[in-house]
Amino acid sequence: MKRCIAGVLLLSFLGCAGTACASGQKLIALTFDDGPRPYILYGYTQPGQKPTPGLLDLLDREHVKATFFVMGWRLTPGTYGDRREFRTDKTCLDAARDLFRRGHEIEDHTFSHVQFKLFEKQHGPGSAVADVDRASELIKGVTGHRAEFVRPPNWITWDALNRQLEGRGYRVLSISSEIPLPMRDVNSADYLCAGARPVNCPKPSLNAFVLQQIERREKQGVLAHVLVFHELSTTVVALQTLIPELKARGYRFVTMQEYVRLIGPPAPVKRAASKTGG
Ligand SMILES: [Zn+2]
Repeated sequence: MKRCIAGVLLLSFLGCAGTACASGQKLIALTFDDGPRPYILYGYTQPGQKPTPGLLDLLDREHVKATFFVMGWRLTPGTYGDRREFRTDKTCLDAARDLFRRGHEIEDHTFSHVQFKLFEKQHGPGSAVADVDRASELIKGVTGHRAEFVRPPNWITWDALNRQLEGRGYRVLSISSEIPLPMRDVNSADYLCAGARPVNCPKPSLNAFVLQQIERREKQGVLAHVLVFHELSTTVVALQTLIPELKARGYRFVTMQEYVRLIGPPAPVKRAASKTGG
């Protein structure tokens, strides 16, 4: 009995108030930052090397819908947005339109991808919000809708800025221990595995590192996870086995908007989450 009450309290602290938590649904919101990068989305070949698989085909094959946190500058018409990327014949805007057409969600990773604190120092108060809005308008040019979610570069933000962004209708994603676990970003650290000699890539593998984090959260009663990846070729290769593994463990993949609809509003007790760690 004591244990049962403790469990209920723990779930309340973790913010498990929604239908997914109530029904024990296992959910993954797969997210990719820093794109759109056509050569990652479509794959590429290099002489003498194995072809690099395309992310969009992998997601289609697995029937997975994902969320792409794009950098607004890559969607600028007439300049970067219409430039042909190396290794593919697709422009960034072509890629953005295509991924939206395939059922994926496009959200806001700012226009400039700068560290907000430095940016406001250089450009003055309000410049960070303007940078988010600028990306959101470009996203609207592709999807017809402004962005609903913002992930600040390196998760660097502060209370007053969050309030301003929320006042403009955005939900700000965070890795902070003050956020209830279901809405707290899970950092895959995939950027440490990119490049020819990734010495800091988690051992024994990126996939094992992600699964360990998920298992730790499961032990705390949390079955819904927002996984943060980047548009990197090493990540696409890892996901070829990670997605089937997560499906085998009973997880269903949803976009951010569906994820939030399913897990429901956060529980009122927020601060207590910081005591649970993870
Ligand atoms: Zn980024």
